[in-house]
Amino acid sequence: MKRIAIVGGGISGLAAAFRLEQMRGKGLDLEYALYEASPRFGGVLRTEQVEGFTIEAGPDSFLTEKSWAADFCCEAGLASEIITSNPDHRKAYILLHGRLMPIPDGFMFMAPSKVLPVLRSQLFSTSTKIRMAREWFHPPRESAGDESVASFVERHYGAEMVERVAAPLLAGVYGGDVAQLSIQAVLPRFAAMEAQYGSITRAILSHRGRKPAKKMPPFTSLKNGMQQLADAVLARLAPGSWHANCRVDAIRRTQGDEQGNEWTHESGQWEISIEGNFGGNAKQVFDGLVLALPAYRSAALLQGIASGLAGELQGIRYTSSVTVALAYDDEVQSALPGGSGFLVPQSEGKHILATTFVHNKFPHRTPAGRALIRCFLGGAHAPEILEQSDPAILGLVKEDLRQILGITAEPLLSRVFKSKAAMAQYTVGHKGRVERIEQLSRELPAFALVGNAYQGIGIPDCILSANRAMWHVLEGLGFPMPIPEMRR
Ligand SMILES: Cc1cc2nc3c(=O)[nH]c(=O)nc-3n(C[C@H](O)[C@H](O)[C@H](O)COP(=O)(O)OP(=O)(O)OC[C@H]3O[C@@H](n4cnc5c(N)ncnc54)[C@H](O)[C@@H]3O)c2cc1C
Repeated sequence: MKRIAIVGGGISGLAAAFRLEQMRGKGLDLEYALYEASPRFGGVLRTEQVEGFTIEAGPDSFLTEKSWAADFCCEAGLASEIITSNPDHRKAYILLHGRLMPIPDGFMFMAPSKVLPVLRSQLFSTSTKIRMAREWFHPPRESAGDESVASFVERHYGAEMVERVAAPLLAGVYGGDVAQLSIQAVLPRFAAMEAQYGSITRAILSHRGRKPAKKMPPFTSLKNGMQQLADAVLARLAPGSWHANCRVDAIRRTQGDEQGNEWTHESGQWEISIEGNFGGNAKQVFDGLVLALPAYRSAALLQGIASGLAGELQGIRYTSSVTVALAYDDEVQSALPGGSGFLVPQSEGKHILATTFVHNKFPHRTPAGRALIRCFLGGAHAPEILEQSDPAILGLVKEDLRQILGITAEPLLSRVFKSKAAMAQYTVGHKGRVERIEQLSRELPAFALVGNAYQGIGIPDCILSANRAMWHVLEGLGFPMPIPEMRR
């Protein structure tokens, strides 16, 4: 029997444990233990049900096009709970000089693919519109190494596109700084389009021409919120395999193996020290180890074992964010614009980075006629917001909403959630760093790192990273690998 420890009970650790449970079910002779420092599983996946409102503290959905996340929900028994975002409210806005301007139809991130809506839009100046037209003739460019998203977008569409679209979009999604984020890690598809076509607009249109895209709603979620996924996965794990309130505070390789052989790199086992529910500090020994933690926490645990790897992990920066949910009555709801929400460029001088109109995006998450507005704050440019008290943050958000949407009514209810250092930042050079991390990780026996720090920040990326990691760990432990769904 092989024993595997998974440290960290966010969606990455849960997905890893779920795969091991599946493999146990298929007859693999293994046992696993999942350790989570906090009292609850799910990490940043956290949903509150309050007076008929479904309120998300962290993610509210995942990208539909990354279909393996919905497949994973089905495997966890949630097929009947899957929902998509409301196709009638796809429109989103950008705040410009205090007014909400619709993002023109046909925009793919920051790349326009339809002429007329852009020409009619007041979001861009004439010179940017001319720049967009000229982009069509952009010559193919073999990658000259990585660059920031800001520099890439500016080369194609000009500085206004960076400031008004790219920057607020990536601040909303990553809590990131567009001048730091890597085009190759954050938008690899765009880098590939440039290498092949030169023009991003031309690339999008030629792809579209080849295969008429079935217009799916862009976001998929679960009826009762994303925590449903964490709860469903947990319920499917073997009884006694998961341990809340258990912080792993040290790991080391043991001297020799359980048969008493001398220590070698391969023959040793993983000993982990657990602080918490065990009544003090307990030590447990495992054959395999998966760290499903933010990179800086994995770095701290690995310092004494693999300092090179720890150093690379430490180089991955994180940002913090705050989400604020406010519920309003029918009167406010009926005065709000349609659409899924809006983004706020830094130049507008607001605290809010982005806002979702939940009652439009996922209507069944609010009682009929009511409004639920979810605002994002913080990120790379405003880390200090986390130090403010909840009432102070609420006050800032209400003032922003008064100025932007004219809301003066008091909310029926409100919630403030802080996610400290939870968003990994894929800065320029990230891909190279991840390659080095993977190489150094492979030197450690039956070991893997999973989470949002490496190959993608979204929930689907975390699930995929867990699949790959478990494949690697099981292979490292000498198991035959009959599990094609893990190889994706
Ligand atoms: C506000 C917000 C909104 C987001 N919105 C979306 C979205 O809409 N769609 C989308 O796809 N993605 C979204 N994301 C990103 C996505 O949710 C995350 O990248 C993903 O959930 C991270 O999961 P994880 O398991 O890797 O990390 P985490 O959720 O951070 O989990 C790590 C866990 O490890 C535990 N831990 C830490 N140290 C120890 C230790 N020493 N011992 C034991 N346990 C430990 C922590 O308590 C935590 O539970 C959002 C993220 C945030 C913060």
